[in-house]
Amino acid sequence: MDLDITKPKIDLREQPTITCEKCNGMFFKEVVIIKRVSKLLTGSPKDTDVPFPTYMCEKCGHVNTDFNPFYIDKEND
Ligand SMILES: [Zn+2]
Repeated sequence: MDLDITKPKIDLREQPTITCEKCNGMFFKEVVIIKRVSKLLTGSPKDTDVPFPTYMCEKCGHVNTDFNPFYIDKEND
C-alpha cells in the first residue's frame, strides 16, 4: 500500500514552531487537565472525571492559551 502519492509534501522545517507565551521556550511536555463532571449533570451514581490532554511548557510550566480550552482571560474583566 503506497499512500504517499496522495499526501502533500510538507517540510516541517518551513512550518512555524509554537513557542511558550511566557518564556519563548520551544519544548513542551504532554500533561492532562482533568475536569470533574458532577453526577447531578450526568445522572450517574458517581462524579465523572474527564481527562483532557494538553501541552505545558517544559521550561516554565505555562500552558499556552491555544492549548487550554478552559482558559479565561482574567485581564479583560
Ligand atoms: Zn515557558
